[in-house]
Amino acid sequence: MDKKYIATPMRTKEILKKYHFTFKKSLGQNFLIDANVLKNIIGHAGINEESGTIEIGPGIGALTEQLAIHSEKVVAFEIDGRLLPILEDTLSEYDNIRIVHEDILKANVHQVIEENFKDDQPIHIVANLPYYITTPILMKLLRERLPVGSITVMIQKEVADRMAAKPNTKSYGSLTIAVQYYTEAKVVMNVPKTVFMPQPNVDSSILKLVNRSEPPVHVTDEDYFFTIVQACFAQRRKTLRNNLTSHFKGVYDKDVINEQLESIGIDGTRRGESLDMEEFSILANAFYELQHN
Ligand code: SAM
Repeated sequence: MDKKYIATPMRTKEILKKYHFTFKKSLGQNFLIDANVLKNIIGHAGINEESGTIEIGPGIGALTEQLAIHSEKVVAFEIDGRLLPILEDTLSEYDNIRIVHEDILKANVHQVIEENFKDDQPIHIVANLPYYITTPILMKLLRERLPVGSITVMIQKEVADRMAAKPNTKSYGSLTIAVQYYTEAKVVMNVPKTVFMPQPNVDSSILKLVNRSEPPVHVTDEDYFFTIVQACFAQRRKTLRNNLTSHFKGVYDKDVINEQLESIGIDGTRRGESLDMEEFSILANAFYELQHN
């Protein structure tokens, strides 16, 4: 990558100085200053000159610039109005970028996609996410079932590990199930703090989520399924039987819960972390049936 690009310590410092820009920690502003990491993000994002790309939080445009070079069009959501004139300057030589001044959590992304991309254009989300709201952003993007092929994001390592975890590991939990219900999740690279300005307090990873065309399991009611999964992890060290007894307090007693678990062949002395997605779906469907029939 040529050194005239935004993502170098020198160019970033120049831009910040020119605009007297001060970082807002409350907005998770840690800008990328390493061309190699950007190359890796772009390399894993699965984009080409026909792709539409959506970025969340362009900052001063380090990643936006690379997306403009490597895709057909970029739409980037930025909440901080102070960055708009800066982006207009730093990205002035690209005519395929649209900045949307909006909070991604409040944005109508479906509508923005309809207005900005061609029908059937392959769309990918690529971002260095603001760490303070990584999970709400990703869950919003997944739950809304956007017509996107994949989501490649830089996030805190610990959260990336949870999203891509396997059963029987420390990182495996309700977030793992929520993310893997919609996508195939993989940590593609761990990244040191030194590639950001200012440096965050936590380590980071690049996570790639590839949207599934269909969920991997059949669940009768999605909200109910996610509620049961959360209940099974409410106290990690407790058995399934005990977590479910707390969850159904005043509705079903321990005996009913035991009977139900026995009927589906799941040992109530197991912990939530030992169940795979298939077993969670069987469990949730059985309790749903019990409660609704
Ligand atoms: N993409 C740039 C880079 O890699 O250098 C900046 C990434 S920085 C980690 C996160 C960016 O997200 C900041 O520009 C911040 O202002 C923006 N941001 C924070 N909260 C946001 C929100 N709710 N909606 C849209 N953008 C947000």
